[in-house]
Amino acid sequence: MSDKSEAGEPLVDLDLGPATVLFGARGGKYPHGNSLWVRGGRESVIIDPSLGVVARGGTPPPVDRVLFSHCHEDHIAGAHLYPDVPWHFHEADLPGIQSLDAFMGIYGFPPHIDAAFRPAVQKQFHFMARPDSLAYRDADVFDLGGVRVRVLHTPGHTRGHCCFLIDWDGSEDRILYLGDIDLSSFGPYYGDAWSNLEDFERSLKRVREVEVRWYATFHHIGVLDTREHYLERLDRFAGVIPDREARLLAYLDETRSLDEIAEHRFIYRPGDAVEFAEAVERRSMSMHLDRLVAAGHVTQGADGRYVRN
Ligand SMILES: [Zn+2]
Repeated sequence: MSDKSEAGEPLVDLDLGPATVLFGARGGKYPHGNSLWVRGGRESVIIDPSLGVVARGGTPPPVDRVLFSHCHEDHIAGAHLYPDVPWHFHEADLPGIQSLDAFMGIYGFPPHIDAAFRPAVQKQFHFMARPDSLAYRDADVFDLGGVRVRVLHTPGHTRGHCCFLIDWDGSEDRILYLGDIDLSSFGPYYGDAWSNLEDFERSLKRVREVEVRWYATFHHIGVLDTREHYLERLDRFAGVIPDREARLLAYLDETRSLDEIAEHRFIYRPGDAVEFAEAVERRSMSMHLDRLVAAGHVTQGADGRYVRN
């Protein structure tokens, strides 16, 4: 590809054994992403066809099925290029691809944000409903012929978010495709109706145990090829959660409403022009508040306001 990474180096497709990373624009920084094309002796699949696959133009990489790590706009943006092959989602995310309304339900945005985002999902991300999509489950294996793609259910980002572990005959090498456990400095995103903070934490522990040659993320961190780099990145990524929680606790030195907490910004930076920031702050920080209250660190008064104990 002729695109350039953030640092200005040209981005070229990267071969990892039987798989090829198809880098998106800006190294896969949102709304772009890096798709994975995996070829076996009998079948080929593409995982998370992104805007980058659309931007390549011409005939898209030929595949027999499309696998999705989860049901989000940037991961389905190139799926419409494959109307005639089966699409596969984890059973928990599968309802989201049935219709545009069902898809929007994954985010659960308030009506004015929903109304603003809906046209972008259709036009920018080429949403196409596929009610005939198929369900996969944890530990399912797609046998491509000498190459296997195994499902690791890693919920939290969405209910059905999954990673894929890829191995092949004649090699000890394996690939872990991490989807939106994207190891970015932004940290874990759990701001949707279908997100769950504590599931995300369990999933982070699960992927930490996996040892492979290559760790591939959907967004701009791209591919990590040493375990040392992977653990360093993963621990920093996971560490954003307790950091947000500590900042919240410090902010609750006096009573605060959820409105004030959302406005203060713990997920995004105060100046970030993100349309749905307030909704995401509200949902994410509610999850932190719930567990701080349950653990006895925070009290919610009769007026609904929160304060540190
Ligand atoms: Zn996502």
